[in-house]
Amino acid sequence: MDIDLSPEELAFRDEVRAFLAANLPSEIKDGAAASPTVFVEPDIGQRWNAILNEKGWLGYQWPVEVGGTGWTPVQRYIFEKECALAGAPNLTVLALKLVAPVIYTFGTPEQKAKYLPRILSGEDYWCQGFSEPGSGSDLASLQCRATLSEDGTHYRLNGSKIWTTHAHWSNKMFALVRTDTAGKKQAGISFLLVDMTQPGITVRPLLTLAGDHEVNQVFLEDVIVPVEDRVAEEGDGWKLAKFLLENERGGSCHSPKLAYDLTQIEEGAAQEPDGCGGTLAGDPEWKRRVARVRLGIQSLEMIELKILSEVAKGRAPGPQTSLCKLLASNLRQDVDLLAVDLYGPAGLQLDVARPLYGGNAPAPVHSKAAQVASARYLNSRAWTIFGGTNEVQSGIIARTVLGL
Ligand SMILES: Cc1cc2nc3c(=O)[nH]c(=O)nc-3n(C[C@H](O)[C@H](O)[C@H](O)COP(=O)(O)OP(=O)(O)OC[C@H]3O[C@@H](n4cnc5c(N)ncnc54)[C@H](O)[C@@H]3O)c2cc1C
Repeated sequence: MDIDLSPEELAFRDEVRAFLAANLPSEIKDGAAASPTVFVEPDIGQRWNAILNEKGWLGYQWPVEVGGTGWTPVQRYIFEKECALAGAPNLTVLALKLVAPVIYTFGTPEQKAKYLPRILSGEDYWCQGFSEPGSGSDLASLQCRATLSEDGTHYRLNGSKIWTTHAHWSNKMFALVRTDTAGKKQAGISFLLVDMTQPGITVRPLLTLAGDHEVNQVFLEDVIVPVEDRVAEEGDGWKLAKFLLENERGGSCHSPKLAYDLTQIEEGAAQEPDGCGGTLAGDPEWKRRVARVRLGIQSLEMIELKILSEVAKGRAPGPQTSLCKLLASNLRQDVDLLAVDLYGPAGLQLDVARPLYGGNAPAPVHSKAAQVASARYLNSRAWTIFGGTNEVQSGIIARTVLGL
């Protein structure tokens, strides 16, 4: 694996750097730094999306023919890395990286024309309706029922989805639903694009440990979906879900953001008195902990680059994405624990008034980084659960990567 950048790639990196230096507003950067959640709230995220869209870079993973950049996997990696190093917000993956590739890979020309431009323009905001009460890891057991009308024009949905991230801001949901109860459970699942603004949809908040309203339970009662909003054939939903989940687990490089956050923590430690006349950065035990996490991030980066080189050769990212998801989740929790420990009692503050940025943000004790440390730590407990739990990823790695 050759990890040196070519002269063209170095020039591209400089172009991205210059763009970020000139176009990433400080209030968006501050908002991202003060956000404890995985995805920033839409007031930050959608503003950043609009700036990238104006430049033509929002669909940075999409092919040119559907409004994307057509960048190579290496260019995408450079872009993600430079965004992380500049402190830009994480792009909300639900529309850009999850449903959009399903639509442009499996959708009809009408679906592509209808939905993809509205993702780029920000007119549509999407949530993911996969999990249900009782169907998380065992997703194929899902029960949300879609019944085809007698004239074959539309489905009628009844059931419930849970842990639905940002459903309270979404006007669209991509959902896995049961269209057939006979036969193998995977074969009776279809993939529908649901209009969230119609009657029959109730969104109920589920507050996280940190007090954030990020996830929801969504109730669907006689919700109508025209058949033209089904992606692929009836019963193809499981195939599309597997495609989408591979993108969810390995569609982004996590190591640059983790490395950036760890560097911020190291810089903080260099300012933090150790009570003995030095700083925390000089403490041997602290140094050992930081080095262990730094090595873990570097190992993750190597695996991410290996997957990238496979993708650059035209191969699918494959089940190794489970390895990335598992390592990134553990490292995210390690980094967030270091931040809590760095700030001592100030790192334990948990302000339930959200968001922590903007004019109404509460004044922080110690610093903004300290203020957000506990909320981040609590929020990142979810990393080892969403997108498939660590135990489920371990099972996939054992079976399909290690062949056990
Ligand atoms: C913050 C957050 C955001 C989320 N956002 C979304 C979203 O937007 N849309 C969406 O559809 N879902 C979302 N989810 C749901 C998430 O995908 C599920 O929580 C996850 O798949 C686990 O399912 P479960 O909660 O039903 O737990 P269960 O599947 O009931 O698992 C319970 C425990 O059993 C273990 N277990 C289960 N099966 C196995 C196995 N085969 N081998 C070993 N151990 C196993 C699990 O590891 C876990 O420890 C989100 C979850 C969280 C926490």
